Amino acid sequence: MTFESLQLNPAILKALRKENYETPTPIQAQSIPAALAGRDLLGCAQTGTGKTAAFSLPIIHRLSGQARKGGKRAIRALILTPTRELAIQIMDNIKAYSQFTELRALVIVGGVPQRPQERDLAQGCDILIATPGRLIDLINQKHVDLKDVETFVLDEADRMLDMGFIHDVKRVIAKLPAKRQTLFFSATMPPEIAQLVKTLLIDPVKVEI
Ligand code: AMP
Repeated sequence: MTFESLQLNPAILKALRKENYETPTPIQAQSIPAALAGRDLLGCAQTGTGKTAAFSLPIIHRLSGQARKGGKRAIRALILTPTRELAIQIMDNIKAYSQFTELRALVIVGGVPQRPQERDLAQGCDILIATPGRLIDLINQKHVDLKDVETFVLDEADRMLDMGFIHDVKRVIAKLPAKRQTLFFSATMPPEIAQLVKTLLIDPVKVEI
């Protein structure tokens, strides 16, 4: 299995070569074709397995091959993750994978001043990576509009629950278009998360490693 055989676009393949990625990890090999085909995904995987590229590469592939509506940037992919460190890691990875595309990714986390984030959001982005609390604030204050989101990633859902973020997560989900692709990752499946999976995913492809 190679990244070439996954039919990812040349700009992504060039970035992967530059980052010295040679072969897809098992979760990438399983997830990327399903996500490229537009399927919902239920992934049981820990950090360190290559899960970030598993959900990011299909997003970058699709968005970079798609014209922007009216030439304007809109948030077409939203990635929710529980911690600031994870958000920044995901951002760094997405920047590396999309370095030869025109896409703009932005990270929104709590614990830092909000005004610079408002300015960044006003410039527009294609991919937004966020922690739930600050995102809800910015949505409520109309700095973020999720109406154009086509792909929603929920990363580390079980940790969202453990950290008490699940209500904020549900508030964000309520603002998303009903018609969308959802890529859902959780290392464990406690009952509340299993329930969320039922309401959120439509006929998902299950990926376990
Ligand atoms: P993750 O599980 O997404 O946090 O990824 C763990 C680490 O593996 C990160 O440093 C990635 O840059 C790296 N990585 C992910 N996929 C690959 C791959 N196919 N080949 C080489 N390194 C990878």
